[in-house]
Amino acid sequence: MAGFIHLFIPGPTNIPEQVRQAMNLPMEDMRAASFPDLTLPLFEDIKTVFKNETGRVFIYPSSGTGAWEAAMTNVLSPGDRVLMSRFGQFSHLWVDMAERLGFEVDVIDCEWGTGVPLELYAERLRADKAHRIKAVFCTQNETATGVTSDVAGCRAALDDANHPALLFVDGVSSIGSIDFRQKEWGVDCAVSGSQKGFMLPAGLGFLSVSKKALVASRSATHRRCFFSFEDMIRANDAGYFPYTPATQLLRGLRASLDLIAEEGLENIFARHHRLAEGVRKAVDAWGLKLCAKAPKWHSDTVSAILVPDGVDSGDVVKRAYQKYQTALGGGLNKVIGKVFRVGHLGWLNEVMVLASLSAAEMALLDCGVRLAPGSGVGAAIQHFRASAAVPVAEAA
Ligand SMILES: *Cc1c(COP(=O)(O)O)cnc(C)c1O
Repeated sequence: MAGFIHLFIPGPTNIPEQVRQAMNLPMEDMRAASFPDLTLPLFEDIKTVFKNETGRVFIYPSSGTGAWEAAMTNVLSPGDRVLMSRFGQFSHLWVDMAERLGFEVDVIDCEWGTGVPLELYAERLRADKAHRIKAVFCTQNETATGVTSDVAGCRAALDDANHPALLFVDGVSSIGSIDFRQKEWGVDCAVSGSQKGFMLPAGLGFLSVSKKALVASRSATHRRCFFSFEDMIRANDAGYFPYTPATQLLRGLRASLDLIAEEGLENIFARHHRLAEGVRKAVDAWGLKLCAKAPKWHSDTVSAILVPDGVDSGDVVKRAYQKYQTALGGGLNKVIGKVFRVGHLGWLNEVMVLASLSAAEMALLDCGVRLAPGSGVGAAIQHFRASAAVPVAEAA
């Protein structure tokens, strides 16, 4: 087949050529005297992406799910009560993990298409005078439904109730792509992974922790081994790992952090917003709706688009892939068959977004959805032409 297979799923995302090249190198000795020259700056620089000036970041050879587990098993104790909410496949899986690891989960089920219920969180926290809730969880970006939640609002709910619980955030599909401020928002455990905003292959799990979380981990009693903070800290402080690190991915991470610094986080956020707006204009022009119920939930990294009744979104995804060599995301769990997803995060630009929309548009037409050919792509083109491009480099 001639030409690219276009990748517009919300992770793994497209990898910049510089990052790919940086990983194409011979194996190296992870106990070499020079290895810390690579790792120590990585630990420092990744903190900037999380805006975690005072804590530290663990880099595990795992996917994002491993960093979820690392957060819970290091900082909490068996039977601890935790407050969580569920409104999509990823928030669901986090709840499931918490239950399976033996925590007492107070889960609030919300309509899919909405996000973290701040009012209910505030209510639960105010009512918890005995401070039995040890941690509050927030999925910042629910990748299954394209919903972004208000992390600062979770912090405010804790502060207003004068509640000491820790704040855990899943930022796998948001950190490095949309606004996140760990220190300012008082986030104790922030989870991410390499294959979304960090523009790398899957294989690194990032867990960025506050000082408060580090202190909590010393008295927390959940069993941990592979993910142990203590083992990691002992080795990391000298620039090493307690087991074999994924050296090529670390070389790639060096390159991706350099690209992120060069573009500037605020420019990256603005670019993601601009590209996402283009997608939303197309959805409007098609006469379709997002799964996200209101603008405040709109995600700048992924759009989950509802197909009309009588159409199976799985067929749209299949058609886009088979006829137009374009990978779009399907519906997961409760929204299977109902939504298809366009991932618009990481290394991409206007023309790439237009490519994703043109493939989606052709596949929708092929599946019998009535829309004017070119309407969505045209609306996105209008948006991109009419709005200012985001600077390529900050203060270059
Ligand atoms: C992708 C994703 C995960 C899971 O990450 P893996 O790297 O697949 O383990 C968790 N949460 C969110 C919000 C995600 O988008």
